[in-house]
Amino acid sequence: MDIELRKKYFKELNKEKKELLNKKTGLLDKKYSKEINCPLCNAHSEKHAQLFIKEGYTFVRCEECEMIFCNPQVKSQLLGELYGHSKANDIWVDIQESKKEQPWKKQYFESNLDLFNKYRNKNQRKLLDIGCSSGYFLEITNNYCNNIEAEGTELSSKAYSIAVDKGLVVHKCFLSELKKKSKYDMFTLFGVLEHLPKPFEIFNDIKLVANKNALVQAIVPNSYSLYHMFLQSNSVSFDGRNHLLYFSKNTLKKMFELNGFEILNIDTVLTGIDNIKKQMQWINPYDDINTDKYLNSTLINDFINEEYILKNDLGLRLRIIGRLKN
Ligand SMILES: [Zn+2]
Repeated sequence: MDIELRKKYFKELNKEKKELLNKKTGLLDKKYSKEINCPLCNAHSEKHAQLFIKEGYTFVRCEECEMIFCNPQVKSQLLGELYGHSKANDIWVDIQESKKEQPWKKQYFESNLDLFNKYRNKNQRKLLDIGCSSGYFLEITNNYCNNIEAEGTELSSKAYSIAVDKGLVVHKCFLSELKKKSKYDMFTLFGVLEHLPKPFEIFNDIKLVANKNALVQAIVPNSYSLYHMFLQSNSVSFDGRNHLLYFSKNTLKKMFELNGFEILNIDTVLTGIDNIKKQMQWINPYDDINTDKYLNSTLINDFINEEYILKNDLGLRLRIIGRLKN
């Protein structure tokens, strides 16, 4: 992890988030936001229970379907503009390119490709990485699987330019604007769904450019990971502007099923174990300190370890792969 660069990103993001607050109420300003129904089951706000307010952004859980999300939500048009010119989002691209981040990501991305290799048939070769940033996953795919042709889409100008300079095939447009001459067999949504104000739209767009029985693999933060259950509102994942939706295993499965997918696999990846251990010792989970001095060894040996967390689907991120039923 590039801790320094990550700190810089969150500092800038917090500054930009503050610009959307109403000075009197300290809450997200009505002119930049709107009240929404549940983005998964459409339940009205009387069914939303408030979980917490963080830095002016309100997080709720739908009592009908257990979806966690921000309500009110930043207006989608404003979000679109921010993906074009946000300093914070540009720093995020630097994180993707950081040499300190790439070793763990290489292993992570290769395991995602192993999952595709397990479920795709030999004729399924064309992959589209939606929101590919500066293209690190595409590079890994090109090196790891010589029988996959990988392309990406990306809206950020900075990330797009870096990806193109690497010689990768990237389209700077929304999925719905892709020229439909080429269709794809596999899609990846890595760190994408949680950013979308209307998540159903992306599935409709995928169907426009998907071959029969296309596979979609998505990774999102897991609201019921051990990490999030320990850190709760202290987790940097709960930012309210970039991340709007917070899935559980049930809600992610439901999202795929409602969009016509058969679920092939759902599991969790990454654990955030070091952050969890710091939180348990009353140390800021994001400080660059490593100590086990105050930990209970039985708890650590039996439960708070990577093997236990992943075996019980308590990992930091949820990973799903679904096959389009058509
Ligand atoms: Zn709901």
